[in-house]
Amino acid sequence: MYEFAVTPAVTQIRRRGVSITEVAAGSIGAELDLEAGDRIIRINGRLVRDYLDFRFQAAGETELVIEVRKASGEDWELNIERDESEDFGISFEQIVPRQCANECLFCFCKGNPETARPSLFVRDEDVRLSFLYGNYTTLTSITEDEMRRVIEQRLSPQYVSVHATDLDVRAYLLGIDKERADISGKMQQMLDSGIEIHAQVVLCPGINDREILRRTIYDLARMHPGVSSVAIVPLGLTRYLNDPRLTPVTADFCRDAIKMVSAIQKDLRGKLGTTFAFLGDEIYLKAGRMVPSRKHYGDYPQIEDGIGMVRSFTNQFQSLMRRLARSQASAARRSGTIMTGELFAPVLEQLIARMNRRFGTRLNVVAVKNEYFGGDVSVAGLLTGGDFLSARDQVSGDFVIIPKVTLKSDEPVMLDGMRFEELREKFDVPIHACDYQDLVSTIEGMAN
Ligand code: SF4
Repeated sequence: MYEFAVTPAVTQIRRRGVSITEVAAGSIGAELDLEAGDRIIRINGRLVRDYLDFRFQAAGETELVIEVRKASGEDWELNIERDESEDFGISFEQIVPRQCANECLFCFCKGNPETARPSLFVRDEDVRLSFLYGNYTTLTSITEDEMRRVIEQRLSPQYVSVHATDLDVRAYLLGIDKERADISGKMQQMLDSGIEIHAQVVLCPGINDREILRRTIYDLARMHPGVSSVAIVPLGLTRYLNDPRLTPVTADFCRDAIKMVSAIQKDLRGKLGTTFAFLGDEIYLKAGRMVPSRKHYGDYPQIEDGIGMVRSFTNQFQSLMRRLARSQASAARRSGTIMTGELFAPVLEQLIARMNRRFGTRLNVVAVKNEYFGGDVSVAGLLTGGDFLSARDQVSGDFVIIPKVTLKSDEPVMLDGMRFEELREKFDVPIHACDYQDLVSTIEGMAN
């Protein structure tokens, strides 16, 4: 029996059904007179809790009975016949995440300044978001109902933060008791039902490294192919997360981790035909090593967790250089600044320097220091508006590019609450936000 250790974040999730936010003109939804604010309660007698339920229960059905609570308070029952492929044209409210009941030593929420926007303090632990967006869960609080749902609705793959298979260590890291820390039965239940799992280890020096890490990787490898990969990412400390039980990740620590894990990877490639356990890009960069080759990453199973991002970008950049060379494009008039985090800046500097030499571009890379979070935070994704402003005097050329990942996905606002427009007004040249992928095509566009 799984304990129910999760409290709804807001009262809204106790309301029955799922709310409609938009109905496309000319769609089935519009023909049925559905409107924003209406709630779908049941489909063919089965409760609808969120849009995943709607998708699952409507999928493949050509005859449907839909129970609706209208925004006006009326209850409707709609009988529908449709072609299987016909879309309803309805958009739904976002899923409100369930929250965890852990007290992880390294929880990112503890690393935020108090003024950070509220969404950064949401301790989401939700198997639905794991399936939809690759968010990691610890499975410590998964309910029987959620487990049934994962299996019935095939919410696969699931992303699970394992951290250590040693129960004492896992319980210590998660700040819970050993009984709750033990998720072996839950993982097995998922695997037996054909749910694929990607695992994660947040590597904390002196806690789950060395032999504990070795055992964790091999224990998980025994569950391959059900457990298809493991991401090993380093602990990140901000100036607000200064728990004395945590030790910062150093260059030497990273070099040791690479040495040990490389031998395991070699062994597992021989046995499983895949690298299986992947070290985060940060570990290579902090160690002063180049990230491994394209082959190492296979089909990049953990790219959402940032694993292989540098390799993927570098390869795209090299293809861009080849394309430019073939087209003999002259980009000499392009002159601008690319801002990024301190960690990635040296890699980008090298690539851009080669491009400048070869094609006459005058692109300048600025390594922006993260003053907002402080500590050893050096990734591009956590830079804030204030950080970009502090680096303004290093800008040269006709434009500035900042990483798009620094903006909220659904709103042009940065982690310190500064809006993108506000940042734009404070620079004398246009600023563009683009992600790694866009950066390559943006540079390509400039060169033509
Ligand atoms: S599970 Fe995630 S959100 Fe919850 S305490 Fe641990 S790190 Fe924080």
